Amino acid sequence: MKSKIIAALALCFCVLVLNVFAQKSKEKPNAEITKMLKEISAKRIETDIRKLVSFGNRNTLSEQDNPTRGIGAARDWIFAEFNKISSDCGNCLTVEKQTFLQPKANRIPEPTNLTNVIATLRGTTNPERVYVVSGHYDSMCSSPTDAKCDAPGANDDASGTAAVIEMARVMSKRKYDATIVFMTVAGEEQGLLGATYFAQQAVEKKMDIEAMFTNDIIGGVTTFKNSPDRNSVRVFSEGVPSNETQPEGATRRSVGGENDSASRQLARFVKETADLYSPKFRVMMIYRRDRYGRGGDHIPFVERGFSAVRFTEPNEDYDHQHQNVRTENGKFYGDTIEYVDFEYVANVTRINAASLAHLANAPARPKNVGIVTARLGNDTELKWDAGAETDLAGYEIVWRDTVSPVWTNSQTVGNVTNFVMKGMSKDNYFFGVRAVDKAGNKSFVSFPRPVR
Ligand SMILES: [Zn+2]
Repeated sequence: MKSKIIAALALCFCVLVLNVFAQKSKEKPNAEITKMLKEISAKRIETDIRKLVSFGNRNTLSEQDNPTRGIGAARDWIFAEFNKISSDCGNCLTVEKQTFLQPKANRIPEPTNLTNVIATLRGTTNPERVYVVSGHYDSMCSSPTDAKCDAPGANDDASGTAAVIEMARVMSKRKYDATIVFMTVAGEEQGLLGATYFAQQAVEKKMDIEAMFTNDIIGGVTTFKNSPDRNSVRVFSEGVPSNETQPEGATRRSVGGENDSASRQLARFVKETADLYSPKFRVMMIYRRDRYGRGGDHIPFVERGFSAVRFTEPNEDYDHQHQNVRTENGKFYGDTIEYVDFEYVANVTRINAASLAHLANAPARPKNVGIVTARLGNDTELKWDAGAETDLAGYEIVWRDTVSPVWTNSQTVGNVTNFVMKGMSKDNYFFGVRAVDKAGNKSFVSFPRPVR
């Protein structure tokens, strides 16, 4: 009896010690990333948005061969800008126009050439692993097929396009382990067509895209300058994967996981990174794939099994997006430049850039993470595949109460491929695993599936 009491006390003590050690170690920002974020310029973002607006109409159906007006002029300007950035970094970027013939579709009355303009910064040690950051450079008026109207699209989505160009400028001055793709797409307003093409090509080429960000309507529309949510950006992520299979759905219904898709882990990672670098301008995580009745370029990615999230301002002003520029009953409508807050765009750009830099320098997130269910017990065993990175330091187990929206605890477990959490029942917590390199860069979390 006495030995049982001692054993029980020892177990309590162990759990206590484990929890003390597991308290979130206070992370410090990386000095080089802090320096990079300071280089992101609201002034240059403003110049780029003004330039994009100057093309008058960037509807996907608009002119393609007029040098000053229409989507073709915008396409060629972005291409030239990426090339300029590349020559400033010793041709470190591969700049390309990804052109394809889009067949007739809902908002495409005739087969039309669409072009994504892409700049790729190849990774140094793990170039096959890819992170994509995107904005759409097409725009629209009240009608999605009006190719003649003025469609300045300053917020939707010159803001996101300018963010991507500015990231290419600042991030290309540095090197990363993995590859970063700076992407500007056409056809978003026609039904996510440019992003769908890229994502489908990525599947066919078996590209290892670990994460994708779309920046769409990140202008911080000035009519909401006094909103209490002003100093934040929404990050939308799906809870249940869009490509969930039937057996995966059965597992989820049985033991939970509806709040733990890979995209949601990515959103949590972005939130944690923002908390570290941007205490005054925050991430508001939105636990849904997108807004009611709306979509974005992350959707074709999540539908194909890639992790992807959407960045959008916290309050949208529908008088200043998807509107013909006009005054009606004394009220002004139109997505014009006066409603964009360039400092706001720069803040969103910084959160993107900090997250991308950390991800592209960290190891890949652990693959084939399993929670062992072969027998019933009050310990939790996790296992995963070994990563191949040469600078891999090891792994961390993270966990949280099942009702917690974010990870609350972590424990370093060394460079191993399985670990047993003693005295912690898999029935009572959610667990995950992330990889860490020798410099302390962490992947986002992999959520385990049950394995025998
Ligand atoms: Zn948009």
